[in-house]
Amino acid sequence: MVRDLSVPELVDRARQRQPRAVARLISLVEDASPRLREVAEALTPHTGRARVIGLTGAPGVGKSTTTSALVSAYRAQGQRVGVLAVDPSSPFSGGALLGDRVRMGEHAGDQDVFIRSMATRGHLGGLAWATPQALRVLDAAGFDVVLVETVGVGQSEVDVIKLADCAVVLLAPGMGDGIQAAKAGILEIADVFAVNKADRDGADATVRELKHAISLGRREIRGPSWRQPVVKTIASVAEGIDDLVTGIAEHRAWAEDHGEFAARRLARARAEVESIAVREVRSRFGEMRSDVLDRLAEAVRSGALDPYRAADDLIASIVDR
Ligand code: GDP
Repeated sequence: MVRDLSVPELVDRARQRQPRAVARLISLVEDASPRLREVAEALTPHTGRARVIGLTGAPGVGKSTTTSALVSAYRAQGQRVGVLAVDPSSPFSGGALLGDRVRMGEHAGDQDVFIRSMATRGHLGGLAWATPQALRVLDAAGFDVVLVETVGVGQSEVDVIKLADCAVVLLAPGMGDGIQAAKAGILEIADVFAVNKADRDGADATVRELKHAISLGRREIRGPSWRQPVVKTIASVAEGIDDLVTGIAEHRAWAEDHGEFAARRLARARAEVESIAVREVRSRFGEMRSDVLDRLAEAVRSGALDPYRAADDLIASIVDR
Protein backbone atom coordinates (compact mmCIF):
# COMPACT_ATOMS: atom_id res chain seq x y z
CA MET A 1 0.00 0.00 0.00
CA VAL A 2 1.29 3.48 -0.86
CA ARG A 3 -0.13 4.60 2.45
CA ASP A 4 2.53 2.66 4.35
CA LEU A 5 5.50 3.96 2.37
CA SER A 6 8.11 6.26 3.86
CA VAL A 7 8.48 9.75 2.44
CA PRO A 8 11.70 8.97 0.50
CA GLU A 9 10.02 5.89 -0.99
CA LEU A 10 6.97 7.92 -1.99
CA VAL A 11 9.14 10.57 -3.62
CA ASP A 12 11.14 7.91 -5.48
CA ARG A 13 7.98 6.34 -6.78
CA ALA A 14 6.50 9.71 -7.75
CA ARG A 15 9.69 10.38 -9.70
CA GLN A 16 9.25 7.02 -11.40
CA ARG A 17 5.90 8.42 -12.54
CA GLN A 18 3.71 6.23 -10.39
CA PRO A 19 0.39 8.07 -10.21
CA ARG A 20 -0.58 6.57 -6.86
CA ALA A 21 2.53 7.92 -5.19
CA VAL A 22 1.87 11.36 -6.72
CA ALA A 23 -1.72 11.24 -5.45
CA ARG A 24 -0.58 10.17 -2.00
CA LEU A 25 1.88 13.07 -1.76
CA ILE A 26 -0.84 15.53 -2.73
CA SER A 27 -3.09 14.03 -0.08
CA LEU A 28 -0.37 14.71 2.48
CA VAL A 29 -0.48 18.35 1.35
CA GLU A 30 -4.26 18.50 1.66
CA ASP A 31 -4.16 16.92 5.08
CA ALA A 32 -1.41 19.33 6.17
CA SER A 33 0.48 16.26 7.33
CA PRO A 34 3.32 16.67 9.81
CA ARG A 35 5.41 14.68 7.30
CA LEU A 36 5.29 17.62 4.86
CA ARG A 37 8.53 19.05 6.16
CA GLU A 38 10.25 15.86 5.09
CA VAL A 39 8.32 15.81 1.80
CA ALA A 40 9.40 19.36 0.92
CA GLU A 41 13.01 18.51 1.70
CA ALA A 42 12.96 15.42 -0.50
CA LEU A 43 11.18 17.16 -3.40
CA THR A 44 13.17 20.36 -3.56
CA PRO A 45 16.25 19.10 -5.46
CA HIS A 46 13.93 17.92 -8.23
CA THR A 47 11.87 21.07 -8.68
CA GLY A 48 11.97 24.16 -10.88
CA ARG A 49 11.36 22.62 -14.29
CA ALA A 50 7.57 22.57 -14.70
CA ARG A 51 5.83 25.41 -16.50
CA VAL A 52 2.84 26.51 -14.47
CA ILE A 53 -0.17 27.83 -16.32
CA GLY A 54 -3.13 29.15 -14.33
CA LEU A 55 -6.69 29.33 -15.65
CA THR A 56 -9.44 31.31 -14.03
CA GLY A 57 -12.83 32.74 -14.92
CA ALA A 58 -16.43 32.68 -13.76
CA PRO A 59 -18.13 29.31 -13.28
CA GLY A 60 -19.55 27.99 -16.56
CA VAL A 61 -17.22 30.02 -18.77
CA GLY A 62 -15.53 26.82 -19.94
CA LYS A 63 -12.41 26.46 -17.78
CA SER A 64 -12.69 22.72 -17.43
CA THR A 65 -13.34 22.22 -21.15
CA THR A 66 -10.44 24.52 -22.03
CA THR A 67 -8.14 22.74 -19.58
CA SER A 68 -8.97 19.42 -21.18
CA ALA A 69 -8.34 20.83 -24.68
CA LEU A 70 -5.01 22.27 -23.50
CA VAL A 71 -4.04 18.89 -22.07
CA SER A 72 -4.59 17.36 -25.54
CA ALA A 73 -2.63 20.14 -27.22
CA TYR A 74 0.38 19.76 -24.91
CA ARG A 75 0.21 15.97 -25.13
CA ALA A 76 0.37 16.32 -28.92
CA GLN A 77 3.67 18.17 -28.36
CA GLY A 78 4.88 15.19 -26.33
CA GLN A 79 4.71 17.01 -22.99
CA ARG A 80 3.64 15.39 -19.75
CA VAL A 81 0.78 17.33 -18.20
CA GLY A 82 -0.45 17.67 -14.63
CA VAL A 83 -3.75 19.33 -13.79
CA LEU A 84 -4.72 20.74 -10.40
CA ALA A 85 -8.28 21.96 -10.03
CA VAL A 86 -8.36 24.02 -6.88
CA ASP A 87 -11.47 24.85 -4.95
CA PRO A 88 -11.15 26.88 -1.77
CA SER A 89 -14.77 26.52 -0.76
CA SER A 90 -15.33 22.83 -1.23
CA PRO A 91 -14.80 20.25 1.48
CA PHE A 92 -14.56 17.57 -1.22
CA SER A 93 -11.31 16.49 -2.75
CA GLY A 94 -9.35 13.67 -4.25
CA GLY A 95 -11.23 13.64 -7.49
CA ALA A 96 -14.75 14.07 -6.18
CA LEU A 97 -15.08 17.30 -8.09
CA LEU A 98 -13.66 16.02 -11.30
CA GLY A 99 -15.20 12.59 -10.96
CA ASP A 100 -18.31 13.69 -12.76
CA ARG A 101 -16.48 15.87 -15.20
CA VAL A 102 -16.81 13.44 -18.02
CA ARG A 103 -14.85 15.52 -20.50
CA MET A 104 -11.66 14.86 -18.59
CA GLY A 105 -12.39 11.20 -19.23
CA GLU A 106 -10.68 11.38 -22.60
CA HIS A 107 -7.35 11.52 -20.78
CA ALA A 108 -8.08 8.57 -18.53
CA GLY A 109 -5.55 5.83 -19.14
CA ASP A 110 -2.91 8.25 -20.41
CA GLN A 111 0.03 7.66 -18.06
CA ASP A 112 1.48 11.05 -18.91
CA VAL A 113 -1.53 12.96 -17.67
CA PHE A 114 -2.32 13.39 -14.00
CA ILE A 115 -5.54 15.14 -13.00
CA ARG A 116 -6.44 15.98 -9.47
CA SER A 117 -8.90 18.28 -7.78
CA MET A 118 -7.82 19.73 -4.52
CA ALA A 119 -9.73 21.27 -1.69
CA THR A 120 -8.09 22.80 1.31
CA ARG A 121 -10.59 21.40 3.78
CA GLY A 122 -10.71 24.62 5.73
CA HIS A 123 -7.12 24.27 6.87
CA LEU A 124 -5.16 27.23 8.11
CA GLY A 125 -3.45 29.04 5.28
CA GLY A 126 -5.85 27.67 2.65
CA LEU A 127 -5.08 27.70 -1.02
CA ALA A 128 -2.19 30.11 -0.85
CA TRP A 129 -0.43 27.61 1.33
CA ALA A 130 -1.51 24.35 -0.27
CA THR A 131 -1.26 25.05 -4.00
CA PRO A 132 2.50 25.73 -4.19
CA GLN A 133 3.12 22.55 -2.18
CA ALA A 134 1.02 20.49 -4.58
CA LEU A 135 2.83 22.14 -7.51
CA ARG A 136 6.13 20.99 -6.03
CA VAL A 137 4.88 17.42 -6.04
CA LEU A 138 3.89 17.55 -9.74
CA ASP A 139 7.04 19.42 -10.68
CA ALA A 140 9.30 16.86 -8.98
CA ALA A 141 7.29 14.04 -10.53
CA GLY A 142 8.45 15.28 -13.92
CA PHE A 143 5.38 16.94 -15.38
CA ASP A 144 6.50 19.43 -18.02
CA VAL A 145 3.36 21.53 -17.82
CA VAL A 146 1.08 21.98 -14.84
CA LEU A 147 -2.32 23.53 -15.44
CA VAL A 148 -3.87 25.05 -12.33
CA GLU A 149 -7.57 25.54 -12.84
CA THR A 150 -9.70 27.36 -10.30
CA VAL A 151 -13.28 26.42 -9.73
CA GLY A 152 -14.46 29.93 -8.91
CA VAL A 153 -13.05 33.41 -9.28
CA GLY A 154 -12.72 34.88 -5.79
CA GLN A 155 -9.79 36.69 -4.26
CA SER A 156 -8.02 33.57 -3.04
CA GLU A 157 -8.15 32.06 -6.54
CA VAL A 158 -6.78 35.27 -8.00
CA ASP A 159 -3.93 35.12 -5.48
CA VAL A 160 -3.12 31.60 -6.60
CA ILE A 161 -3.38 32.24 -10.34
CA LYS A 162 -1.16 35.30 -10.31
CA LEU A 163 1.67 33.12 -9.02
CA ALA A 164 1.55 30.95 -12.15
CA ASP A 165 4.18 31.52 -14.84
CA CYS A 166 1.30 32.48 -17.09
CA ALA A 167 -2.21 33.47 -16.02
CA VAL A 168 -4.98 32.75 -18.51
CA VAL A 169 -8.30 34.49 -17.87
CA LEU A 170 -11.40 33.17 -19.59
CA LEU A 171 -14.44 35.20 -20.48
CA ALA A 172 -17.51 34.30 -22.48
CA PRO A 173 -20.06 36.39 -24.35
CA GLY A 174 -22.82 37.66 -22.12
CA MET A 175 -21.23 36.29 -18.96
CA GLY A 176 -18.22 37.97 -17.42
CA ASP A 177 -17.87 40.90 -19.80
CA GLY A 178 -14.85 43.19 -19.87
CA ILE A 179 -16.27 45.63 -17.36
CA GLN A 180 -17.00 42.92 -14.84
CA ALA A 181 -13.51 41.54 -15.28
CA ALA A 182 -12.05 44.97 -14.61
CA LYS A 183 -14.08 45.24 -11.43
CA ALA A 184 -12.92 41.88 -10.17
CA GLY A 185 -9.28 42.90 -10.64
CA ILE A 186 -8.87 40.22 -13.26
CA LEU A 187 -7.53 42.50 -15.98
CA GLU A 188 -4.35 43.12 -14.06
CA ILE A 189 -3.52 39.48 -13.42
CA ALA A 190 -4.18 38.19 -16.95
CA ASP A 191 -1.24 37.44 -19.20
CA VAL A 192 -3.47 35.94 -21.88
CA PHE A 193 -7.22 36.33 -22.38
CA ALA A 194 -9.45 33.74 -23.96
CA VAL A 195 -12.94 34.69 -25.05
CA ASN A 196 -14.48 31.24 -25.04
CA LYS A 197 -17.83 30.18 -26.51
CA ALA A 198 -16.93 32.15 -29.62
CA ASP A 199 -19.68 30.19 -31.36
CA ARG A 200 -22.18 32.26 -29.39
CA ASP A 201 -23.63 35.65 -30.29
CA GLY A 202 -21.78 38.59 -28.87
CA ALA A 203 -18.28 37.08 -28.93
CA ASP A 204 -16.89 39.87 -31.11
CA ALA A 205 -18.48 42.50 -28.89
CA THR A 206 -16.87 40.88 -25.85
CA VAL A 207 -13.48 40.89 -27.60
CA ARG A 208 -13.90 44.57 -28.52
CA GLU A 209 -14.95 45.55 -25.02
CA LEU A 210 -12.08 43.62 -23.52
CA LYS A 211 -9.51 45.17 -25.86
CA HIS A 212 -10.87 48.59 -24.98
CA ALA A 213 -10.60 47.87 -21.24
CA ILE A 214 -7.04 46.57 -21.75
CA SER A 215 -5.98 49.70 -23.64
CA LEU A 216 -7.39 51.92 -20.89
CA GLY A 217 -5.51 49.91 -18.29
CA ARG A 218 -2.27 50.07 -20.27
CA ARG A 219 -2.18 53.87 -20.24
CA GLU A 220 -1.57 53.75 -16.53
CA ILE A 221 1.44 51.47 -16.84
CA ARG A 222 4.88 52.87 -17.58
CA GLY A 223 7.79 51.00 -19.11
CA PRO A 224 7.75 48.05 -21.45
CA SER A 225 4.70 45.98 -20.88
CA TRP A 226 3.38 42.77 -22.27
CA ARG A 227 0.47 43.23 -24.63
CA GLN A 228 -2.07 40.72 -23.36
CA PRO A 229 -3.39 38.82 -26.38
CA VAL A 230 -7.11 38.16 -26.69
CA VAL A 231 -7.75 34.77 -28.24
CA LYS A 232 -11.14 33.51 -29.38
CA THR A 233 -11.83 29.87 -28.56
CA ILE A 234 -14.56 27.30 -28.89
CA ALA A 235 -13.18 24.93 -26.30
CA SER A 236 -15.93 22.35 -26.75
CA VAL A 237 -14.61 21.59 -30.26
CA ALA A 238 -10.99 22.55 -29.51
CA GLU A 239 -11.11 25.52 -31.88
CA GLY A 240 -8.65 28.32 -31.17
CA ILE A 241 -6.73 26.19 -28.68
CA ASP A 242 -3.60 26.32 -30.86
CA ASP A 243 -3.80 30.12 -30.75
CA LEU A 244 -4.11 29.95 -26.99
CA VAL A 245 -1.04 27.70 -26.80
CA THR A 246 0.81 30.18 -29.03
CA GLY A 247 -0.23 33.12 -26.82
CA ILE A 248 1.04 31.28 -23.75
CA ALA A 249 4.35 30.44 -25.48
CA GLU A 250 4.81 34.04 -26.64
CA HIS A 251 4.20 35.26 -23.14
CA ARG A 252 6.81 32.83 -21.86
CA ALA A 253 9.41 34.12 -24.34
CA TRP A 254 8.62 37.75 -23.48
CA ALA A 255 8.69 37.04 -19.73
CA GLU A 256 12.09 35.37 -19.98
CA ASP A 257 13.51 38.26 -22.01
CA HIS A 258 12.22 40.92 -19.63
CA GLY A 259 13.06 39.32 -16.30
CA GLU A 260 9.39 38.79 -15.56
CA PHE A 261 9.71 35.03 -15.49
CA ALA A 262 12.38 35.11 -12.77
CA ALA A 263 10.44 37.78 -10.88
CA ARG A 264 7.30 35.66 -10.93
CA ARG A 265 9.19 32.63 -9.65
CA LEU A 266 10.68 34.72 -6.87
CA ALA A 267 7.23 36.06 -5.97
CA ARG A 268 5.97 32.49 -5.81
CA ALA A 269 8.79 31.46 -3.47
CA ARG A 270 8.15 34.50 -1.29
CA ALA A 271 4.45 33.73 -1.06
CA GLU A 272 5.27 30.14 -0.25
CA VAL A 273 7.67 30.96 2.57
CA GLU A 274 5.37 33.62 3.93
CA SER A 275 2.30 31.41 3.94
CA ILE A 276 4.17 28.58 5.68
CA ALA A 277 5.46 31.00 8.31
CA VAL A 278 2.06 32.60 8.86
CA ARG A 279 0.49 29.18 9.11
CA GLU A 280 3.08 28.10 11.64
CA VAL A 281 2.60 31.20 13.77
CA ARG A 282 -1.17 30.82 13.64
CA SER A 283 -1.03 27.22 14.69
CA ARG A 284 1.32 27.98 17.57
CA PHE A 285 -0.96 30.84 18.51
CA GLY A 286 -3.92 28.46 18.49
CA GLU A 287 -2.13 26.06 20.80
CA MET A 288 -1.41 28.66 23.38
CA ARG A 289 -4.46 30.88 23.35
CA SER A 290 -5.81 29.44 26.58
CA ASP A 291 -2.91 30.31 28.84
CA VAL A 292 -0.82 33.23 27.59
CA LEU A 293 -3.63 35.02 25.77
CA ASP A 294 -5.99 34.71 28.74
CA ARG A 295 -3.40 36.23 31.02
CA LEU A 296 -2.71 39.09 28.59
CA ALA A 297 -6.40 39.70 28.01
CA GLU A 298 -6.94 39.98 31.74
CA ALA A 299 -4.10 42.50 31.98
CA VAL A 300 -5.64 44.56 29.16
CA ARG A 301 -9.12 44.37 30.71
CA SER A 302 -7.87 45.54 34.07
CA GLY A 303 -5.95 48.42 32.52
CA ALA A 304 -2.55 47.06 33.59
CA LEU A 305 -1.36 46.70 30.00
CA ASP A 306 -2.19 48.42 26.72
CA PRO A 307 -3.30 46.12 23.88
CA TYR A 308 -0.28 46.85 21.66
CA ARG A 309 2.15 45.85 24.40
CA ALA A 310 0.04 42.77 25.02
CA ALA A 311 0.18 41.85 21.32
CA ASP A 312 3.98 42.28 21.35
CA ASP A 313 4.22 39.99 24.38
CA LEU A 314 2.01 37.42 22.69
CA ILE A 315 4.11 37.41 19.50
CA ALA A 316 7.32 37.20 21.55
CA SER A 317 6.01 34.20 23.47
CA ILE A 318 5.14 32.41 20.20
CA VAL A 319 8.43 33.18 18.49
CA ASP A 320 10.48 32.16 21.53
CA ARG A 321 9.03 28.70 21.60
P1 GDP B 1 -16.28 25.83 -16.04
O1 GDP B 1 -17.33 25.85 -14.97
O2 GDP B 1 -15.71 27.18 -16.28
O3 GDP B 1 -15.22 24.78 -15.80
O4 GDP B 1 -17.03 25.46 -17.41
P2 GDP B 1 -17.14 24.06 -18.16
O5 GDP B 1 -15.87 23.74 -18.86
O6 GDP B 1 -17.69 23.07 -17.21
O7 GDP B 1 -18.22 24.42 -19.28
C1 GDP B 1 -19.55 24.81 -18.98
C2 GDP B 1 -20.46 24.41 -20.11
O8 GDP B 1 -20.14 25.14 -21.29
C3 GDP B 1 -20.35 22.94 -20.49
O9 GDP B 1 -21.64 22.45 -20.78
C4 GDP B 1 -19.49 22.97 -21.75
O10 GDP B 1 -19.74 21.88 -22.60
C5 GDP B 1 -19.90 24.26 -22.39
N1 GDP B 1 -18.86 24.86 -23.24
C6 GDP B 1 -17.54 24.92 -22.98
N2 GDP B 1 -16.90 25.54 -23.99
C7 GDP B 1 -17.84 25.90 -24.89
C8 GDP B 1 -17.79 26.59 -26.15
O11 GDP B 1 -16.75 27.03 -26.63
N3 GDP B 1 -18.99 26.78 -26.77
C9 GDP B 1 -20.16 26.35 -26.25
N4 GDP B 1 -21.28 26.60 -26.93
N5 GDP B 1 -20.24 25.69 -25.09
C10 GDP B 1 -19.10 25.46 -24.41
